Amino acid sequence: MATEGVTPNLIVKNASPWRDGEVRDLYIAGDRFIAPPNSGDVGGADFVDAAGRLCVAGFVEPHIHLDKAMINEDVRPNISGTLDEAIEIIWERKRAYTIDEIAERAGRVIRSALANGVTRIRSHVDIDNIGGLRPLEGVAEARRRHAEVMDIQIVAFPQEGILKNKGAEDLMWRAMEAGADVVGGMPFNEKHPQDSARHISIVFEIAKKFDADIDMHVDETDDVGARTLEMLAEQTLVHGWQGRVTAGHTCALAGYPEDYASAVIKLVREAGIHMITNPATNLMLQGRLDPQPKRRGITRVKELLAEGINVSFGQDCVKDTFYPFGRVDPLEVGLIAAHAAHMSLPEEIEQVFDMQTNAAARVMRIDDYGFAPGAAADLVIIDAANAAEALTKQATRSTVIKGGKVIVENETRRAWHWNPTD
Ligand SMILES: [Zn+2]
Repeated sequence: MATEGVTPNLIVKNASPWRDGEVRDLYIAGDRFIAPPNSGDVGGADFVDAAGRLCVAGFVEPHIHLDKAMINEDVRPNISGTLDEAIEIIWERKRAYTIDEIAERAGRVIRSALANGVTRIRSHVDIDNIGGLRPLEGVAEARRRHAEVMDIQIVAFPQEGILKNKGAEDLMWRAMEAGADVVGGMPFNEKHPQDSARHISIVFEIAKKFDADIDMHVDETDDVGARTLEMLAEQTLVHGWQGRVTAGHTCALAGYPEDYASAVIKLVREAGIHMITNPATNLMLQGRLDPQPKRRGITRVKELLAEGINVSFGQDCVKDTFYPFGRVDPLEVGLIAAHAAHMSLPEEIEQVFDMQTNAAARVMRIDDYGFAPGAAADLVIIDAANAAEALTKQATRSTVIKGGKVIVENETRRAWHWNPTD
């Protein structure tokens, strides 16, 4: 987009864009960043003063389940703490879903994310013969209600399997026709490895028909015999879908023998698969049945990054049967990710910040992300000087701008009623 000579209507003064290395003014016209005006004449533009604080072009949440969010308010607790029990509890709750109550719960989570500086979300929605298309319709309704302040991609997610769950294949086709953007999958949740392979083939058939990207839940299990990441990578190459496929969780990869893990990682790189780890949920769910020492349950984040693979992280669950916490705060999940993946060096902490911004934008294949002229005018001012301080302080997101408009302002107030004596 040509932005030369355009007059700004909003100027963010003294911004310190992450990794930019300089403090500068950012100019916005409508919902786009523009080049600095030549004449210095900014007319009647509004100003926001970032006062030299850290700015990002909006946090990006690439893996969440808005349809299930908040259901722990009215279901029984997950006694074993396992993935299997979490799924079982949902069956009954799902039968009672209505479009309006899904939209209401999802809406609360979207606004929480926005207040924390998230401006883009990719949400999975369950597609199966229990809830039918209601989870999709509920989240689509929430998306409609928040269209002005949040960009949302919806993934049709066959959590109960495609072959194992009668009617799921037909529902997956209908979900894509009804407005889902991305084809999901859960190939490990089938009865046999042949069915897992067929599950993946069906997902590619649908994706090709709709020219859609793919984002699957892959090997979210402690079973080190799970092999569906390798299957997914192979089929990605066969179908020529490189760069258009994402694999979430991949917990089993952490437990593979070193040689096999390294071979699979190389295949993942060749297939251009984006990887997402969900450290909050998987630290909570995985390794439950292990004797001590219990496994961490997190995929091989550092090894994947070392191969040059795009790795991001997501919140995944918010107050559902899988995970009892969550407020869609990338600084919170980033801090957990840093612990879970042993990312402690200064450059590794910077990498964590990359995972929740640029890497997540690549997962969602957003092409107008960043501060360049023509990019979407999303911006978050963080009360911190740098990434490490932002994570350490869980810093306040003082201003959240979406589509060129100031949408949220946050402040923290602290008053001391005590003075130190020395
Ligand atoms: Zn998930």
